Amino acid sequence: MKKPLVILSLVVVLTWGAWFVFTEHLYVVPILAYHHVDEVIHSDSPTVLTDNFARQMEFISSRGYKVLTLDEVIEAIRAGKRLPRNSLAITFDDGYANNYIYAYPVLKKYNFPATIFIITGKDASDGFISREQMLQMQENNIFFGSHSKSHQYLPELKDEQLRDEIFNSKKELEEKINSEVKYFCYCFGGFSDKIIDMVKEAGYQAAFTTNRGKGRFNKNIYALKRVKVGNADTNPLRMWGKLSGFFNFFRSEKEPY
Ligand SMILES: [Zn+2]
Repeated sequence: MKKPLVILSLVVVLTWGAWFVFTEHLYVVPILAYHHVDEVIHSDSPTVLTDNFARQMEFISSRGYKVLTLDEVIEAIRAGKRLPRNSLAITFDDGYANNYIYAYPVLKKYNFPATIFIITGKDASDGFISREQMLQMQENNIFFGSHSKSHQYLPELKDEQLRDEIFNSKKELEEKINSEVKYFCYCFGGFSDKIIDMVKEAGYQAAFTTNRGKGRFNKNIYALKRVKVGNADTNPLRMWGKLSGFFNFFRSEKEPY
């Protein structure tokens, strides 16, 4: 090789290496947050249209991303273990029946694990996932967490109500699905130190928020930030950005409540 080429190659390798080392501590496994997946847009919560959801999952599969369970993500955070940069996890909030109808077949096709946070006071007659559907999904890599009993903004509740929402939703869901409910998801992302203490006391092993709370790097497993995915993220460049693991770094930090 000619001398200028050797120098150029060295510069490229060193720059790439330096970038990798410099950004290593900034990488956070993206935990995606979905709500409705449906043929029509809903006004109560964000909706990703069925076709877009299918294309987003296709992107994740074809680009070789590794979809992890929340157990795997939490274990790695606890152990301070670095996960590969192409990792991610998928979650859904509220437990809409359309998750079963439209998202579940796509997840199953790729064998992607996902966790759905259930509002335990809602049932099939309100348009939410039924117990039978949960039991079926549970057989195929879909896990369930608690999203409280009645989906109220927790920081505004009195202690007694808080206990009911946090403790009893866990119990009710565990009875329904015959499995341990390990994770809690704050309604509208709002939490406080007191709420975290109660979530721990109830026996949850981690809890998830939106983009609320201080700290961009998901070190606190009771205030794990997630990346909201919308229809516009079907654009490969946008999706790539959200899955990069550096998305939190560019978001402004929000108060927890
Ligand atoms: Zn919600």
